[in-house]
Amino acid sequence: MESALAQQVYDKLLSVHGPQKCFLEHMTPFQLLVATILSAQCTDKRVNMVTRDLFKRWPDAEAFASCGREELEQAIFTCGFYRAKADHILKAAKAIVEQFHGELPNTMEGLLKLPGVGRKTANVVLGDALGQPGFPVDTHVRRLAGLIGLSDASDPEVIESDICAVMPPETWAQFSHLLIVHGRTRCPANRPDCPGCELAMLCRHTKSEKTAKGAKKAAKSAKSAKKAAARKASGSASKTPVKKNAKKSAASVSARHTHPRKASSHV
Ligand code: SF4
Repeated sequence: MESALAQQVYDKLLSVHGPQKCFLEHMTPFQLLVATILSAQCTDKRVNMVTRDLFKRWPDAEAFASCGREELEQAIFTCGFYRAKADHILKAAKAIVEQFHGELPNTMEGLLKLPGVGRKTANVVLGDALGQPGFPVDTHVRRLAGLIGLSDASDPEVIESDICAVMPPETWAQFSHLLIVHGRTRCPANRPDCPGCELAMLCRHTKSEKTAKGAKKAAKSAKSAKKAAARKASGSASKTPVKKNAKKSAASVSARHTHPRKASSHV
């Protein structure tokens, strides 16, 4: 992928949407970790509603590490997959207390050691709470990267490395946010608004659509020209018989209209 394309897309998105911040409300890196775990298969809006109360009851890793599983499950029930999410939060909180003295590790390697923490979650926490470069690849980033032509990969880790290879680390977190907001507003999966999209001039999807439309149009006009030529050819071919028929019918008409007496005079 050309780095120029990624930079142009970044600049355009920044001018359209303005600087974006993390959509998940949090006061500490640990709270963002919990919110990100809860956000799997759930909207940010719902997660923010749940975490407002959740973080009042259990503000940090120590509090979560000693809370009751059932209580936690009940508190996060509306986020979906509450059993698995509660399990991940409890295990991560215990690991942070026991192995990292209550503080989140601030490297990708360290975060990936925590139970239930994958690359996407680690990138969110690194980029939005720990001041480190992080490029989370969620469903919007993945889809837009393919449509625009930023990456041909389907594996989030490869998409991350394709984009991070051509963009400065200080733009990574912001670029991810911008792609997410564009995916939510202009380019949702089921109805991308290509005619109104500010990326239309840069997006590979629109360019290939235009090329396909152009080819279809050219094929259609070639077909019409062929039909017209065929019509013309069949028209000139049928001219002679028409003339013959015309002569024939003219003769019969004249025979019918010949006065009987005049006719008999020739006999
Ligand atoms: S041009 Fe269309 S496909 Fe490309 S980003 Fe915009 S809305 Fe999505």
